[in-house]
Amino acid sequence: MIILSQADVERLLPMDTCIDLMAQTLATLARGEALLPLRTVLLIPDSHDAFAVMPAYLGSPKTIGAKIITVYPDNHGTEFDAHQGAVLLFDSENGSLAAIMDATSVTTIRTAAVSGVATRLLARESASTLAIIGAGVQAHSHLEAMCAVRPIKTVRVWSRTRENAELLAAAARERFGLDASVAENGQGAVRDAEIVCATTSAREPVLRGDWLSPGTHINAVGASVRAAREIDTDTVVRSRLYVDRRESALKEPGDIIIPLEEGHITPDHIVGEIGEILVGKAPARRDVDEITLFKSLGLAIEDLGAANHVLAEARRLGVGTEVSLGGARHAAH
Ligand code: NDP
Repeated sequence: MIILSQADVERLLPMDTCIDLMAQTLATLARGEALLPLRTVLLIPDSHDAFAVMPAYLGSPKTIGAKIITVYPDNHGTEFDAHQGAVLLFDSENGSLAAIMDATSVTTIRTAAVSGVATRLLARESASTLAIIGAGVQAHSHLEAMCAVRPIKTVRVWSRTRENAELLAAAARERFGLDASVAENGQGAVRDAEIVCATTSAREPVLRGDWLSPGTHINAVGASVRAAREIDTDTVVRSRLYVDRRESALKEPGDIIIPLEEGHITPDHIVGEIGEILVGKAPARRDVDEITLFKSLGLAIEDLGAANHVLAEARRLGVGTEVSLGGARHAAH
């Protein structure tokens, strides 16, 4: 069994590779070759914190495993990441535990990579103006993913803490050579943007539908529980809505559940899953003026698809720490 650290995962999982892996993984789901129960989320009493267990089976490449994480939004600004834990991979031939790897890095990279897949399918081909709302871990990885799939030239950032927005804008200039600035408010960031990424832990909307221009594509990444929402009802109603998985989208996020319960949309407002576009079961963007919205929840198969690649690369390059945990008869004696 191999243990792989955050540094190992970051080295072995480049963003462009992960975008292709996520496309394969979501297509596998759409072909019906995955087992994916809804995640089990324990909401820790008297806090905003959660503990989530996310098991899955992926048929191609054959992968069994789970991600187990804590989500502590108030860790923001401390030495601890908001998402911490491990991805466990099991050997599908004999059932033995094959790897334990850092989940912070897998989550950071695969979530942005999935938004990369959605953006590649749904944003205008020539989209060059990006708005990012939020300036945390996901904001930084989304900057990289958006630059990987579209010819981004300009980025405007808004975040609750201006200093963090300035850091993201500086990264956009230094790493990607972009024309980057900090907006005074969300509306200023979003104005005329062709791609908008909402990446906050906000519990009330930070993106409003009446700010959006025709033709915009939105990736809405935060707000994965009923009690939180990051985009308002108008954003959802005005958009052609795509999700990573219908079942999760209809049961987990306030962003979708609240407009549903208030009768502003029905479940068939969801045009399709991203994987369904990839296998030809759902249409992509139809014209340059429609607004498309990808509501991301995050799926265990995404973690497994990414982790499977990391493990194969670790074996190929001799990276990681081998540990004998037990389980084989000879090891017990
Ligand atoms: P970080 O803690 O690194 O960043 C959080 C961001 O949210 C910061 O930019 C912060 O702003 C902003 N923020 C926090 N509270 C508020 C608020 N009340 N109003 C406005 N902005 C706020 O978190 P991550 O980047 O790791 O995660 C961001 C979100 O994405 C979380 O909701 C997380 O659960 C979700 N997520 C979703 C995944 C998926 O698969 N869909 C996977 C991983 C994460 P500032 O810095 O300016 O204070």
